[in-house]
Amino acid sequence: SKVIGFATDGGGKTSHAGIIASSMDIPAVVGLKKLSYTVRSGDPIIVDGNTGIVICRPTTEQFIEYNKKRQKYLYYDQEVHAQKHLEAKTVDGAVIRVRANIESSHDLKHLNEHGAEGVGLYRTEYLYVNKARWPDEEEQYQDYKKVAEAVTPYHAVIRTLDIGGDKIAGVAVDYMDDEPNPALGLRAIRFCLAYPDIFRTQLRAILRASVHGKLKIMYPLITTLEELKEANEILGHVKENLKQDGIPFDESIEVGIMIETPSSVMIADELAKHCSFFSIGTNDLIQYTMAIDRVNERVAYLYQPLSPAILRMLKQTIDAANNNGISVSVCGKMAGDPVYAILLMGFGNVTELSMDVHSIPKIKKFLRSISLADSAKLVEKVMGLASEAEIKAGVMNSIDKYFTDDTGAGLEENAP
Ligand code: PEP
Ligand code: MG
Repeated sequence: SKVIGFATDGGGKTSHAGIIASSMDIPAVVGLKKLSYTVRSGDPIIVDGNTGIVICRPTTEQFIEYNKKRQKYLYYDQEVHAQKHLEAKTVDGAVIRVRANIESSHDLKHLNEHGAEGVGLYRTEYLYVNKARWPDEEEQYQDYKKVAEAVTPYHAVIRTLDIGGDKIAGVAVDYMDDEPNPALGLRAIRFCLAYPDIFRTQLRAILRASVHGKLKIMYPLITTLEELKEANEILGHVKENLKQDGIPFDESIEVGIMIETPSSVMIADELAKHCSFFSIGTNDLIQYTMAIDRVNERVAYLYQPLSPAILRMLKQTIDAANNNGISVSVCGKMAGDPVYAILLMGFGNVTELSMDVHSIPKIKKFLRSISLADSAKLVEKVMGLASEAEIKAGVMNSIDKYFTDDTGAGLEENAP
């Protein structure tokens, strides 16, 4: 609550600290490598989270220039906020649901003020990390109940525990070996299947809460069909136990998976037969496809959402969902950026996007200005290009016309 901005030597845009910063609307620039050698205590500093620029000891001219930029941005923000409750209906009539990614149930109070249509991703790690003990069923039930009630008439997707990787702290430390490559280690669904008691407790709490509103369950980091089947089997047992105990729950609760590994993309057609929706986690999908640790600033240049490899992964996943009649949404950081959102629309049948609440009004406004037909044409054009540089140029060229208000605010993630 006291931080108005930060800049760090380490990290990448999609490392956990970066995600928390954007969820709290705190300007942040990460991965600067040697900033801490330059800046001294007490220095004035400008942190431009839109362009990724940090200026230590600005000149008077720079100070005036950035104050103007800030005013412009605040004006743009105000204008966008005034329309936050309007649906994201494209000019050719498609309605896209724009939902929120939340980090804890404290974020629920921000849903309405940003025009969120429910929760597309509840990262439940907050209940677990930095805690001295695992949260019990009752504590989790009360939390998920709050979520279910708050999102009515929409729904909330509760992602089961995604601990590990760069999210290890508190009691979890005792359960993790000192892994040389934690991102490739015992993370997310792998951890839950290795410690089924912890998983069962969470599933029971979600199911119990499912009578208080509409909830969906989502497993993170699925890489094999067996993992999905095993998780579903455990869920089946938990449901049976609840029935035996006479405890009500939503028997038709939907179960989906996150697509965030290349292997899940390659077998998406098989996975689709065992779940009712996909949500593409582009943060991890990019990490694992490009083989870059998302917290390592030295390889952050390879975080390339517009790489042809990533676009082909997205297309393959979306096609597999469409061919198998299940829904597909995107909840990684790509969803909250207009430059990428237009492409996601162009793949066809992505009917939902989920993002940090602060991006919602901006994305809704943007989606109202585009047509699905135009975005499909754009996808067709860029899918034939061989390099990220060509694709980037093609996309920027085509979307320029949507940003005539001179704020530059819509292009924030793509600044150099
Ligand atoms: C993702 O990987 O894109 C995602 C949404 O999950 P997280 O950022 O929590 O790993
Ligand atoms: Mg992920």
